[in-house]
Amino acid sequence: MSDLITVQGVVLLAAPVGEYDKRIVLLTRERGKISAFARGARRPNSPFMAAANPFVFGTFTLYEGRSSYNLNQVSVTNHFVELAGMQPGIYYGYYFLELADYFGREGTDEREMMNLLYVTVKALLNPKIDQRLVRCVYELRTMAEQGLCPQVFECAACGHETEEKEPVFFSQKEHGILCGSCAMGGRDAARLSGAALFAMRFIIQAPMGKLYTFKLTEEVLKELEYHVGRYTAQNTDKSFRSLDILEMMTK
Ligand SMILES: [Zn+2]
Repeated sequence: MSDLITVQGVVLLAAPVGEYDKRIVLLTRERGKISAFARGARRPNSPFMAAANPFVFGTFTLYEGRSSYNLNQVSVTNHFVELAGMQPGIYYGYYFLELADYFGREGTDEREMMNLLYVTVKALLNPKIDQRLVRCVYELRTMAEQGLCPQVFECAACGHETEEKEPVFFSQKEHGILCGSCAMGGRDAARLSGAALFAMRFIIQAPMGKLYTFKLTEEVLKELEYHVGRYTAQNTDKSFRSLDILEMMTK
């Protein structure tokens, strides 16, 4: 049939509709963020039972209806069901999906965000990687992918390229780093260590597959959490429900 389309995507959200159905939100390579109706997805013997759930990556075949898409077939590549049993890992995961949903638009190529989500969920499942670091990496790289990258390669106020040993400050208001003399002008600048600056640059530039290949000391991780967390909050105008739960759990 001519109105059948196939997309590569990941399920961001799945909500029950009526007694047996679900509505899912997909982030896809071909159509951007779209929503689809999964008829019968809540029936125990439905082929969509396992597929119409958050964190499912796969190939989705959809009927393009007049006002919405209807799920026709799914070939799952990854379920990531292990995540469901992880506390607080699952809430990190939900927060990452929520952030992707916030920025997702219909009609855009979401390949990079899909790849970022994929490597990030894998990192969440890796017990050797600190989940607080996973959050910092995901938030900062998401900002970069969405055109909201902070300026961390030169002073955001005067353009001065700071030397390696020079003190550097991070300013939320200026969306990036400041050199010593610009930071003195009463701007909202907080000292940024060389290690934290290096980590930020790496997160912004590294290939997706290399994003989760470094570690930080507790001190530097705290610094990064502080700056990146505030930066993300200030550049999004939504309060994320899963983040509220996560912050209650990890306090
Ligand atoms: Zn400057």
